[in-house]
Amino acid sequence: MSIAIECPMCAQGVITVYRVRASGEMIQVCDECESVWEADVDLPAPATTTVERFLDERGLTALWSELEPVE
Ligand SMILES: [Zn+2]
Repeated sequence: MSIAIECPMCAQGVITVYRVRASGEMIQVCDECESVWEADVDLPAPATTTVERFLDERGLTALWSELEPVE
């Protein structure tokens, strides 16, 4: 799956699908403002959360290394 959607929150970043290494969850992330959407949300839509908050809520370190891009 490959998508290139402009971020509706910052209008600068590109939305990419990532897999959370620890949980296998799939999320959509803006590489610029770090907004996060559930994988099944049709964009544009208001962001659900941010990378930092998303990982923190799961007890994970808020680092991009916790995420791996899904091609
Ligand atoms: Zn953004």
